[in-house]
Amino acid sequence: MKFAQVNGVKAEAQQGLRGACEVCQSVMIAKCGNERMKHWAHKSKISCDPWWENETEWHRAWKNRFPENWQEIIHKDPTTGEMHKADIKTTGGLVIEFQRSAIEPAEMLSREHFYKNMVWVVDGTRLMRDYPRFCKGFSSLRQTVKGFFLSSFPDECFPSSWLASSVPVYFDFQGNGDPVQPQDARRSALWCLFPNRVDGAAVVAGVSREALVKLASTDPDLLFAHGNLTYIAEYIRLQRESAADHARKQHPDLLSLLNARRLRGRRH
Ligand SMILES: [Zn+2]
Repeated sequence: MKFAQVNGVKAEAQQGLRGACEVCQSVMIAKCGNERMKHWAHKSKISCDPWWENETEWHRAWKNRFPENWQEIIHKDPTTGEMHKADIKTTGGLVIEFQRSAIEPAEMLSREHFYKNMVWVVDGTRLMRDYPRFCKGFSSLRQTVKGFFLSSFPDECFPSSWLASSVPVYFDFQGNGDPVQPQDARRSALWCLFPNRVDGAAVVAGVSREALVKLASTDPDLLFAHGNLTYIAEYIRLQRESAADHARKQHPDLLSLLNARRLRGRRH
């Protein structure tokens, strides 16, 4: 963890310091070696939060994009008393979880259920095949409202374990950045897979890192996921109606011909 309580104050790890875990109050030891970035670890070596994964440079870099008073915030269920430390919790109440390891679908859903108003940012460089799969799948995306795409086969773009998420999932295919490989624009954007489906297709959008940070503070309600999906569904419906209207005006006979053919087809 980046923070522990030292004399009642949230503090970063420093050589020789001892602190208390903000969740379970047990003793935390500051780890300030050369191999890993400075962090706090439970003296007992067992983390009290089963949802906590070992922090990497990638996690830390993401957390540091947000104000310090939003980082590592305890979220408590008032009814059950269950407590977890969210990577980011904004003053507007949005939780952002950064996930590098693979996650079981059951744990993914229980975390979504616990935090409710949350989004994921997922390290899309965990497996070698993740980014090449996205590049290959990208050609099958269909542009809809500006900046948004529809995907009939989201499993061709994203790891299947994330497809059933009930909240927006932002894939970061850049990871920690590879100094050898020049970064392309597609790779430096975040790609958001929205929950639910519109017209049977998944909705995908490209967002810059800066935009995500800004959106988190200005539009905290699931980063407008539901609003976006409703808008896109309406757009598709209008588009379809206007295409049918256009066809009716241009080829009044063609449409009746098509309808007749469809009816005949159904009879066979
Ligand atoms: Zn603890």
